Amino acid sequence: MLEHVYTGNMAINPPDSIPATDNQDQEDDVLDPTGRSAYAKLKFKPGAEYPKFTLQGQTCYNAASCFYLNRKQGLHSDKIDDTLLSYLDTCKREITMEIPLRKDDGTLMPVQAYRVQHNNARGPFKGGIRYHEDVNLAEVREMASIMTWKCALVDIPFGGAKGGVAVNPKKLSVHELRRLTKAMVAHLGDNIGPYVDVPAPDVNTNPQIMAWIYDEYAKSHMESSPLAVVTGKPLELGGSQGRLEATGRGVAIILRETCKHLKVDIAKQRIAIQGFGNVGYFAASILAREYGCKIVGVSNATSAVYNAGGIDVEDLFKYSQANRDDLTNYTKATSIPRDDLLTVDCDVLIPAALSNCVTREVAKKTNAKILIEAANGPTTAAGNEVLYKNGVFVVPSLLANAGGVVASYFEWVQNLQQFYWTREKVNDELEKRMVKAFWDVVNFATEHKICPRQASYNIALERVAAAAILRGF
Ligand code: NAD
Repeated sequence: MLEHVYTGNMAINPPDSIPATDNQDQEDDVLDPTGRSAYAKLKFKPGAEYPKFTLQGQTCYNAASCFYLNRKQGLHSDKIDDTLLSYLDTCKREITMEIPLRKDDGTLMPVQAYRVQHNNARGPFKGGIRYHEDVNLAEVREMASIMTWKCALVDIPFGGAKGGVAVNPKKLSVHELRRLTKAMVAHLGDNIGPYVDVPAPDVNTNPQIMAWIYDEYAKSHMESSPLAVVTGKPLELGGSQGRLEATGRGVAIILRETCKHLKVDIAKQRIAIQGFGNVGYFAASILAREYGCKIVGVSNATSAVYNAGGIDVEDLFKYSQANRDDLTNYTKATSIPRDDLLTVDCDVLIPAALSNCVTREVAKKTNAKILIEAANGPTTAAGNEVLYKNGVFVVPSLLANAGGVVASYFEWVQNLQQFYWTREKVNDELEKRMVKAFWDVVNFATEHKICPRQASYNIALERVAAAAILRGF
């Protein structure tokens, strides 16, 4: 077993070390608003030479670029200077683990895993654990920082963290998956805990895996309220009503408020959704059932369908489940090439699957007037510039998909109090938080004549900076 624990901030990157975000051809399409970007790779590559900071675009794509865009626009914050930004932009603690997994056939397989804790000025670290063979430290760092801004934006008392295990869970048996998960928790020791760092599900992790995390942690921490060590648990084991669909519900609430803001009728919106998993399905279902929207296009990893007259979401979901996600032969809509979903005729585009899919080309082709970023970082920096110039109203993922972490917060509260809420109460509280966060962003954006993404980062940065300063930074 190898374990490296770094504490304290990493080397500070000087303000001139952020690369240009536009006026480039191809490469800026990999600069995405989550920071999973050339910027991230450069920033964390030892000895890398950084291009000069020349933010020529009119939009930002992460907290640091927001700060420099503010400066360029004269949108000055009293609280934040370069030094504080450097603190806010770096991770507090990074844990790199090499976990020995004993396979069912008796062989030993080393698995790389990471837990990165970005900032806890406002409360315990919070963030999902992702199981994916492409997971790497730079990506986990960026996603940890996104969690800090997201939690601050929706005003819940958490900081930001993220975990990643570099493995393809589909290639492991259930016993191997359980052993790996429990070994990771044992490695993490006291670096997670209800008041320290609270993991949750992310790509390829689910309530069962959260239950294993709880069990392993509880073995050595029964004196506290160990259920609150992790959220996204099964209902039978301290999970919360409403958590499963909370991200999709949050997306639907955000679209409803967007329509109010833009003074358009939500029931008249024709919506295309990329991704028909947890977020995409629940968003589509709630938008169709509760708000009368017309879902005209849906895609998943294998296929896509379009029907200008509207798709019956529940019928398509049943079909999808019965046909291993293959929508190709669904007779009540037209089969289209998967990636064409992003440019079909629609009023609202909801990417709910992948990062970096709304590229410059997609942005040029879409005729959507509203884009709700349900996935994490679906719009590239170049795509964002085009959308901005074309007047598309973009709700950034920081806000649009925050419903999941808000419901995770409710689960944590219920676990600590040992007092469980009804689904109605969870949905009511979720509604209040999402609506307030949306109007905080819109009011800030309107007041300062900036886009919702820049407004979101500004609000989040100000809140985290205020906490850091009050704590004596
Ligand atoms: P999921 O695994 O349940 O669903 C993903 C969906 O995307 C599936 O339908 C899959 O087939 C589809 N997909 C994969 N590749 C595709 C492609 N190339 N084209 C079209 N569709 C494709 O995942 P999820 O939980 O719904 O998460 C989706 C996104 O939302 C991710 O970016 C995730 O990080 C983000 N997110 C999820 C939550 C949550 O609570 N689940 C919270 C915040 C953010």
